Amino acid sequence: MNIHEYQAKELLFAQGIPVPMGEVATTPEQAEQIARKLGGAVVVKAQVHVGGRGKAGGVKLAKTPEEAREKAQAILGMDIKGLTVEKVLIAPAEDIATEAYVGIILDRASKAPVWMVSAAGGVDIEEVAATDPDKITKLAVDPRYGFLPHQAHLLATKLYTDPKQVRAAAKILQQLYKAFIENGASLAEINPLITNPAGDVLALDAKLSVDDNELFRLPAIEALRDESSEDPAEVTARNANLTFIKLDGDVGCIVNGAGLAMATMDLVKYYGGEPANFLDIGGSSNPEKVVNALKIITGDANVKAILFNIFGGITRTDDVANGIVTATKMIDIKVPIVIRLTGTNEEIAVKILADAGFTALTDMDEAVQKAVALAKGESQ
Ligand code: GDP
Ligand code: MN
Repeated sequence: MNIHEYQAKELLFAQGIPVPMGEVATTPEQAEQIARKLGGAVVVKAQVHVGGRGKAGGVKLAKTPEEAREKAQAILGMDIKGLTVEKVLIAPAEDIATEAYVGIILDRASKAPVWMVSAAGGVDIEEVAATDPDKITKLAVDPRYGFLPHQAHLLATKLYTDPKQVRAAAKILQQLYKAFIENGASLAEINPLITNPAGDVLALDAKLSVDDNELFRLPAIEALRDESSEDPAEVTARNANLTFIKLDGDVGCIVNGAGLAMATMDLVKYYGGEPANFLDIGGSSNPEKVVNALKIITGDANVKAILFNIFGGITRTDDVANGIVTATKMIDIKVPIVIRLTGTNEEIAVKILADAGFTALTDMDEAVQKAVALAKGESQ
């Protein structure tokens, strides 16, 4: 789960990280009021779950409250990488002397949190990573010992030479590590970490991605979820307890079990097709899940054929069959459906489907080939 910059900044501020704190506005008038309250120049920042807002025109400086209103007017409603800006953060503007990058991710290859820091921070860090990787220092943290003070100090020396700034940065890195661990994050980053002309080290941006599997123990973080910033299909799927990931292909897959879902996607690719999604309806016998799954899949305009692949172990295939019949009555489905099911109560399931005018296959290869062909507009 991603959270907004203003929410991440509050979590970092709570750890003691120096962050110029502002307030969120949803209207230009509110933006003006906040700017007046803060006094002095402000920065108006789009709150959407993507990076690169600066380059997209979603970060603007304003010298007066009136200008803050104008800039907020321009940014609110703006489309940034497909997301509509509904909130802006109004924060005190800082004069920037240097911009650095500091970030920590959970790196599955190293099986550890890994730091990445660079004195060449700011809006072009992706380019630095691609063209000048030597400017980025990496350090893996052994989770048995945690992030040690001498490691924080070493990383800080890669950013600054002034001893005061090195000490300030080392402290910020330790606080950021605590924020990363305590909030169940898979990524925490500050870009830019700036120095101002007075020599202070400050966090001007913050990003925190939380591991979904940590949320059950972190209700305060779960409460930060902003469904308006998430993919609508993924919101519906989560609320229906389905595991769903949207992909770019045209074969909609409805499968029970994560392993079978992966195997189905592999087979779709093997036979020359592209899966439109990963969708696991789970191991339970619940027709409602099938209805919800079909609603999600048919909401994707790219889907040209729907493939059910059900192995009845704990799942009863007759329940799935009933779900398919119910759902196809409720929803006007305009694309062909291929059904493969085998296992528990298979004979009953085939009869239910046959009575409703469907044919059910039992062979997985055959079903996948048929769905791929139908998605391509070839009849089989
Ligand atoms: P991002 O592009 O989505 O990562 O948004 P950032 O919050 O990082 O802002 C992009 C850039 O805007 C930063 O790298 C800074 O150069 C600039 N910026 C952000 N806040 C301020 C500020 O308070 N003062 C000044 N002068 N520049 C700022
Ligand atoms: Mn940034």
